[in-house]
Amino acid sequence: MPVKFIDYYEVLKVPRAASEKEIKQAYRKLAREHHPDLHQGDAKAAAEEKFKLINEAYEVLSDAEKRAKYDRLGKNWKAGDEFDFDHAGPGGRTYTYHGPADFDLGGFGFSDFFASIFGEDFAHNRQNSGSGQMSYRGEDIDAEISLTVDELIHGTEKELRLSAPSPCSVCGGQRFSRGGVCRSCAGTGVTEETKKVKVKIPARLHPGASLRLKGLGGKGYGNGPDGDLYLRIKATPSGGWQVNGSDLETELVIYPDQAVLGDKTQVPTPHGPVQLKLQPGLHSGQRLRIREKGLPKESGFGDLYLRVRIDIPPEQTEAEKELYQKIRDLRQNNENR
Ligand SMILES: [Zn+2]
Repeated sequence: MPVKFIDYYEVLKVPRAASEKEIKQAYRKLAREHHPDLHQGDAKAAAEEKFKLINEAYEVLSDAEKRAKYDRLGKNWKAGDEFDFDHAGPGGRTYTYHGPADFDLGGFGFSDFFASIFGEDFAHNRQNSGSGQMSYRGEDIDAEISLTVDELIHGTEKELRLSAPSPCSVCGGQRFSRGGVCRSCAGTGVTEETKKVKVKIPARLHPGASLRLKGLGGKGYGNGPDGDLYLRIKATPSGGWQVNGSDLETELVIYPDQAVLGDKTQVPTPHGPVQLKLQPGLHSGQRLRIREKGLPKESGFGDLYLRVRIDIPPEQTEAEKELYQKIRDLRQNNENR
C-alpha cells in the first residue's frame, strides 16, 4: 500500500548530516513553537498536525537505529512521493516488510508512512517500556564558569545553579502518555529543573579547560546513571590583572630616577611578590615580562607583563627640587651646545 514519503530532515529543518545535538535543539525549538496549547481555533488544529509530524520526525532521527533504517531508504525520496516500503530502496533493492496494516499507531499520532517502516519495531518498544524496564542515562550538561585569577591558581568551592533536564514527571520520560504525545513536556520526555550544586574547583585550572563532574548532569531514568556536568573554565579580570589567555598584564609605576638609573624593586604577582631588576633607561609604555607568573596553562603557567608608567612621587622635598633644577640646567646646556 503506497503512502506519502515524509522527509524527516526537512520537517526538523536540519541537514542530513546533523548531529544528535543539532537534532535535539531543532526539535525542542519547533516543539515549543508548535505546541497545540499555544494556539487557538483553526491555528490549533494546524499546530496539532505540525506537532505530530515534528514528534514523529524526532522519534526517527533521535534514535540511531531508526535513523539508520530511514537513511537506508536513500536520499532520492522527496516529501510527498508515493512510497511503498515493500518496493523501496536504493538501486532497486527491495525491502520486505510484513504486515504494516497490523499496526494502528494513530493513537500515538504517527503517520502511515511511519507505521509502514517502523510499525513493528515501535510496537515492540512500547511493549518493553510498558513493563517498566526502560532506562537511560541522564543528559550531560554544558555550563560555563568564570573564575578570578586567584581562584584559577589556588582552586575554590562554588555553588552553581544549573538548569538540568530531568525526566518529565507526567510521562516518566517516555514522551507518550494516554495514547498520545505527552503535553506536559511537549514530547521531549524531559523538563528543565533548576538545581543547586556545590562544586569543588581544583587548583591550577587553565582558561578554556573543561572540567568534567561525574553525575552532576541530568537525572537518569530507570536504572540509568545520571549524566555528567562539563564546566568550561573562563578567566575573569580581577585584582587589577588584565587577562589575555593565560597571560596577565598590569601597570607598573616607577619614578624618574628608577627609569633613568635602573633599580631593584619588589612587585606583586598572583603567586606572591617577586624581586624585579629594572634596567637603566626605561620608557613609559614599555612592557616587562616576568615568565611563568601568569595563569595556569595546559602545562606550566603563562607570563606576567608589566606596563611601565613613569610618574613622580607624591611629594618632593626642597632638596629634591634643587637637584631637579640642576638636571634641567644641565639638559638646557646640552641642548644649547
Ligand atoms: Zn512528558
